[in-house]
Amino acid sequence: MGEFELIERFFKRAARQADVGIGDDCAIWTPSRGHQLAISTDMLVEGRHFLSTVNPRDLGHKALAVNLSDLAACGATPHAFLLSLSLPRVDEDWLSGFSEGLFALADAQGCELIGGDTTQGPLNVSITVMGEVPAHQAILRSGAQAGDDVYVSGHLGDARLALEAFRGTVSLPQSVFELARSRMERPQPRTALGVSLRGLASAMADISDGFLGDLGHILKASRVGAAIDVAAMQRLMLTRDAWACPQDLLQRCVLSGGDDYELVFTAHPDHQQHILALSEACGTPVTRIGRITADPHLLLLSEYGGVLPNTFTSFDHFA
Ligand code: ADP
Ligand code: MG
Repeated sequence: MGEFELIERFFKRAARQADVGIGDDCAIWTPSRGHQLAISTDMLVEGRHFLSTVNPRDLGHKALAVNLSDLAACGATPHAFLLSLSLPRVDEDWLSGFSEGLFALADAQGCELIGGDTTQGPLNVSITVMGEVPAHQAILRSGAQAGDDVYVSGHLGDARLALEAFRGTVSLPQSVFELARSRMERPQPRTALGVSLRGLASAMADISDGFLGDLGHILKASRVGAAIDVAAMQRLMLTRDAWACPQDLLQRCVLSGGDDYELVFTAHPDHQQHILALSEACGTPVTRIGRITADPHLLLLSEYGGVLPNTFTSFDHFA
């Protein structure tokens, strides 16, 4: 099977929202009036972002999910994406699994594949997503104010726990491993929550490299600090009730684990009831885990009122 047959068979579908989709030199798309484009790209490399044994369906899902998570973090509504694929060989079973996982999530989120590039080489999946926000309503990292509450969506730390199990540094009961693994391989982008926080959240980011690092980006951009309730953070681990996770591992996974694809955001305390109602409406739990401070430091408060040393490092590809 050649390159064009492959695209035709696994990726081309009738254009829906796009004026011109796959098959011409460019895709053509008319943005809605009074909106700005939000664009983001994320690449997944075998051995670095996923294991060679990953199910292709899960890989298709995750490659798009991590990109949609960036749009959600800005409060943007997804519309379209480009897919650049480097494949060692044409493996039809692999391609059908991959495209099924990809399109299942794309359809669920109303995001249309409008083009891409296909080449032979080491397995590598790069996606560029495009969305829209009403003009000047994107939620940026730079808007946090002293006195704002700090919130996190969903659960944290389970993806990292699964990675540690794959690496053999921890041995988990089977049911705990399966749950953690599904968090690592099938993250759910928080699109509905992100979009509904427009006009409420003062700053937002998605958690891909670890909570402390990603919160750190907000603090730096907003020139503020934060006091974080570590006990509240620890309760965010989904697998916590099913397994007696050692305390130091639990803290490391939750605070700096990475691969969570949840949202961390800040908001004025007046918005608390409204935010909890939105969380309910979106079916995405939201937990208040701290407060923004004028003092530009990040304090980790223990449940006994002490301050924990911050020795946690978040993920950096070149560190
Ligand atoms: P060009 O030679 O101009 O770069 P290609 O021949 O690579 O274009 O691609 C032909 C068409 O197929 C283009 O519309 C391109 O966007 C689309 N395409 C290529 N690879 C993919 C892919 N993996 N997924 C979706 N569309 C693709
Ligand atoms: Mg090309």
